[in-house]
This record gives sequence, C-alpha cells and structure tokens, in this order.
Amino acid sequence: MNIEKSISLFERAQQSIPGGVNSPVRAFKSVGGTPLFMQRAKGAYLYDADGNAYIDYIASWGPMILGHAYEPVVQAIRGKAMDSTSFGAPTELEIEMAELIISMVPNVDLIRMVSSGTEACMSVIRLARGFTGKNKFIKFEGHYHGHADSFLVKAGSGVATFNIQAVPGVTAGVAGDTLTAPYNDLEAVKKLAAEHKGTIAAIIVEPVAGNMGCILPARGFLEGLRALCDAEGIVFILDEVMTGFRLAPGGAQERLGIRADLVTYGKVIGGGMPVGAFGGRKDIMQQIAPLGNIYQAGTLSGNPIAMIAGYTLLSELKKNPSIYKELEEKTIYLREGLEAGLKAWGQPYVINQLGSMISVHFSNHPVTDFASASSASTEAFKKYFHAMLGQGVYLPPSAFESWFLNNALTKEDLDKTISASAESLKQIP
Ligand SMILES: *Cc1c(COP(=O)(O)O)cnc(C)c1O
Repeated sequence: MNIEKSISLFERAQQSIPGGVNSPVRAFKSVGGTPLFMQRAKGAYLYDADGNAYIDYIASWGPMILGHAYEPVVQAIRGKAMDSTSFGAPTELEIEMAELIISMVPNVDLIRMVSSGTEACMSVIRLARGFTGKNKFIKFEGHYHGHADSFLVKAGSGVATFNIQAVPGVTAGVAGDTLTAPYNDLEAVKKLAAEHKGTIAAIIVEPVAGNMGCILPARGFLEGLRALCDAEGIVFILDEVMTGFRLAPGGAQERLGIRADLVTYGKVIGGGMPVGAFGGRKDIMQQIAPLGNIYQAGTLSGNPIAMIAGYTLLSELKKNPSIYKELEEKTIYLREGLEAGLKAWGQPYVINQLGSMISVHFSNHPVTDFASASSASTEAFKKYFHAMLGQGVYLPPSAFESWFLNNALTKEDLDKTISASAESLKQIP
C-alpha cells in the first residue's frame, strides 16, 4: 500500500500543529506508524490522500451512523448555508431540533445545545453542583467525559491509550473533587458514597462504556446506581455522547430501560457537525441561565448549519427505527464471523458487543472494567490493527476505543472484514 502522501502530509503537519493532529487519538501514537490523512469518504468507505480505500469502523467516532456523505444531510447543509451560517440570535430550527430530541428520548423535559460532548459534560457537572449545592462527583475508571479538567482523572480514550497517569495542568484542588470507582463495581460506589456522605452532587457514567473498548454494564449495575442516587439525593447523569441515538432512537435510556436525571449527547446528534447537548429533568434544567444563575453559554451554540445536519440525521433515525435492527444484525454477523476466525487462531480473546458497538480485546479473562481492559495485550492489538489496515480495514487506532458500525456497510464489506481478520491473526505470534 502506498501512503507516500500521508507520510509527507504528516511531516508537514508537525511543523504547524502539535503532534500533527488536532485530537490526540488520531495520531496512531500507541499503534505506531503514520496516521492516514483522509481526502473524502462515501458510505462505508474512507479514501486517503494517496487514493487508498478503507472500510470504515470509526464512523468519525460515531456520527456517521448512516454512512459518510449521506445525501439528505449533505443537501440540507448546502441549502441552509445560503441563508447565512450564523446569526447569534434564536431561530425556529433550534426549537424544531429541541422538539425532535425530546420526542425521541425519554426523561428529557428541556434540552440545551452546545458544540461538543466536552461542553455538554462540563456543563452538566456544573449544573448538578449548582442544583445540589454539593461539590464532589463520582466517575468511573476508564470512562471519558471530554477534556474538561475535572474529568481528566483516571480517564479513558486517549488518556488511557497514552497511559497518562496524571494530567499536568489539572490542579489538585479540582482533581480532589472527582471521586473514582471501577465500572461495574456497585459495592465500591456505595462505599464511596458512604465515606463522602452529603458531599456528592452527581454520579456520571457511560451507560455502555466505549472509551476503553466496548464494555457492557453488569446486570443490575446501572439500576443500583439509580437507586443509590435516589436514596442519597445525588443527580444521576448518563453520558450518552456515544450511546445516544446509536443504541436506540432514545439511546441507552431506551435500550437498557434506565432513567437519568440529566443526560449528555454528542457525536451522532450533530450528523458530523460539531454539536453536543445536555438535558433532563425540568426542575434541574430550569436552574440554567437565563432562568437561573447557573451560567452556561456559547456563541455558536445551536448554529444553523450544525442544527440542520443533526436535525436531518435524527429525523431519518426517527422515521426508520428499523435502522437499529439492521445495524445490530450486521454487528452480530460481524461478531460471529470474527469469532470463527479467532477460535481457529486458538489464542485468548474477548469480544464485547451491544447494538452497533463492538470491540476485540486480546485477553484471557472477561473485560468488564478498566483493570481488565488494561491487562489485555496491546502488543497483539497493535499488530492486528496494522494487519487490518494493510488489508483495507480501518479500525480505531487503539484497543481503548469501541468500533462503530454504520448502516452503509454491506454483507460483502462485512465478509471482507471477516476474512481480513482471519488473515491478520496469522501475523500475531
Ligand atoms: C467523545 C466523548 C465525549 C467528548 O465529546 P467531544 O465532542 O469529543 O468533546 C464525552 N463523553 C463520551 C462518552 C465520549 O465518548
């Protein structure tokens, strides 16, 4: 495979951009090699600067759930751009977007738009603190809630990929208000809540973890957190930046039948444009400015181009809920195909999957939390990743990320992926 142009673009990029990338997980730092510079994408395929084609299992980390350059979204953006790209004043489209989300998602009375998942998560923690008058919150090891200071404690995604133990620049004062527990360990959370009784504003959790590979919630875990929050007056926050509009039209709340007080969105919600959102219980959401004094704002929040992209994609998902069934069937087909190859290979592996989220860990024990995800072989993943890439399959460049399927994938694409996987395993000693 010729990647000459990507190599020279990466060299050039490093002269003007730190590490050559605008988000660290793109850098291939943990798997080694040169990140591929993309030129265009259509449906399930990415095309790099050298013209190589790849079957895409990142889907821009989620948003491209119906495939790249999805025609209705592209047309909607084109049409809207002619009416100006930003006003700094309210528009009817923002109401339509809010109404659409509220019609799709349970337990959301009011919703506010922002421009990223990071903003949504940091806003929701401020809101929970302001609402309860308490300072601390509990998050889980290996969970990622964006890069706001208070979340960069035992965080997943790039922080885990690069094995960063403490992020310089996050003060001890801030980090001290972030309590952490292992995912799926309800007893540990109960213990923390007892030790810090009366000081905890919120528990925030990825309902299905996706930033340390894909890890499912243990039976009763989320329900246990919900009950604990009810008993202790703690705000229960589901971070649905990954799972929202991906596991079901109503996200993990719908798919898993769990009720959040507040919920955050990102990724799919913007149809590939920079969009995030947070919403939930009316009595809490009403504390935000201008109704209340908990301040939160954004010059480009509710931007018309971003809104029309998200609105168009979400409308399609609402209109055709069978998309979710198709996506899940494709993912199960892929899982079974990958498993057949892995069994024949004969070494230990774990595949976790729910809906259209899936990941492979090279591990000889179940992967249920950050400790078990971390003890899987990253060396084996590195070899697997490059062997897959060499055969035209683009996986996330880290074992600490979920793969995301998009509905443009055909059976033929999945079959190609399955045989590429069987071939790739031969290159792992
Ligand atoms: C990606 C992600 C975020 C951060 O979203 P950005 O748009 O990258 O700021 C927050 N929470 C979860 C669960 C995520 O996967």
